[in-house]
Amino acid sequence: MKALILESSRLYRQLIDNLLAQQGFDNDITDELATARELLNQQSYDLLCLNENLKDGSGLELVRQCRSSETLQGIPILFFTSDTALARELKELAVNAVIPKTNLQQIHDQVLHFVEQQVDPMFRKGRILLVEDSDSIAAMIGEALEYRGYRVDHFTAADEAWSAFVNEVSYGSDEAAFDLVLTDIHVEGSINGLELTRRIRQVEDARGFVPIIAITSQDSPELRLSLYREGVSDFIHKPVLVEELLIRAGNLIDNKRLLDKVHDQRRELYILATTDKLTGCQNRHSLLEFSKKMMAQAQRHGFPVSLLMIDLDHFKQINDQHGHATGDQVLYGVGTLLLQSFRDSDLVARFGGEEFVVLMDHCSAKEACSKAEELRQSLEQLKPAGLRVTASIGVSSLEAGQTAAFEALFTAADEAVYRAKDKGRNQVALQPLPHRKD
Ligand code: GH3
Ligand code: MG
Ligand code: MG
Ligand code: MG
Repeated sequence: MKALILESSRLYRQLIDNLLAQQGFDNDITDELATARELLNQQSYDLLCLNENLKDGSGLELVRQCRSSETLQGIPILFFTSDTALARELKELAVNAVIPKTNLQQIHDQVLHFVEQQVDPMFRKGRILLVEDSDSIAAMIGEALEYRGYRVDHFTAADEAWSAFVNEVSYGSDEAAFDLVLTDIHVEGSINGLELTRRIRQVEDARGFVPIIAITSQDSPELRLSLYREGVSDFIHKPVLVEELLIRAGNLIDNKRLLDKVHDQRRELYILATTDKLTGCQNRHSLLEFSKKMMAQAQRHGFPVSLLMIDLDHFKQINDQHGHATGDQVLYGVGTLLLQSFRDSDLVARFGGEEFVVLMDHCSAKEACSKAEELRQSLEQLKPAGLRVTASIGVSSLEAGQTAAFEALFTAADEAVYRAKDKGRNQVALQPLPHRKD
């Protein structure tokens, strides 16, 4: 993020520069209105900070110009003045924050608040789960971290911290997730910091990657080794040296951010590899993978599995008469209907051009046939791209206790589709599996 600081006092120039730099801003600084105008014309800024009495003019003038300029109209503006009449005028010009130059601490807090709330609502340096039963140490660490822009959730008991941790959303880079756990080892409550570490490390999703810093008053090689074995990333001795803590925490959070990025990319790749681009259904590859698992489970636990094969009727005519793009719209509409019509545990896949397959666990032949008939009727009503579309649906089932390979189920449903087509299309047909002599 980039800020332009236009400020007549050298002290304040430095102060604001430091404050914003800590928040990740790259600043341009000047004390001349003319230079500021030039810079604003040349490049884009995420924030403008200024005051009223500049050596070559008035800050208010520049605010007016910004607010009436097409390109600079929306730029967040932070104005320093203690003049209340001027402050009112500035508010009318939609200046985002007017901060009096009276108290340094107040300036610090208001600038920080302003940056978080208005310049970049997604802005956060990191969210830290702090477990410390000494109020004075917790206050010292918490304040130092918050001062640097971290958000700190403090607990005195590790079991409460654990509840907060497991209740967060599961994906590491998500807005609400913790980026670091900072835990005292000896804390009150039913579990200690070591047990908290153990539990976090057993979490199987990306939360298991969150770095953990242990805070200990004792130090022995045995303790250090056991902490590392349980998955602590780093540790810090009491009395805590705050500067050291900030550096270690910052490094670990930076690393975690990189790992999160890798995770996000891996998840995107997985979705790309298993999803059909046009309809959002699973693709053929995904069906073949998933079906193996479902068939194995069905035969192990003795539950029924059914397969629907849905082949759109005379789809070629739709392409021929209305064009390929309309054909695609129809496929999209049908795919969306299918995704809405089945349980989350069912697999809905686009197997080929205009052929879809649905695999349903805990579903007998009878249930599958009635589900197929419902679907046939909904499709008839759907009118994707404004066109009447029907489908022939083949059903096959592995009954409870029966054994067969997925291929047999698939072939049977395919045969059923042919029969439905033969009999005049827009109908459901069931094809039992051939008897196996084992
Ligand atoms: P039937 O009732 O016997 O199933 O007739 P049909 O026309 O639906 O069957 P056929 O297999 O002859 O034609 C399927 C058509 O689907 C041919 C092909 O051009 C079209 N198709 C396949 N994939 C896509 C696609 O991704 N988009 C579009 N628009 N058309 C596709
Ligand atoms: Mg303690
Ligand atoms: Mg076909
Ligand atoms: Mg067809």
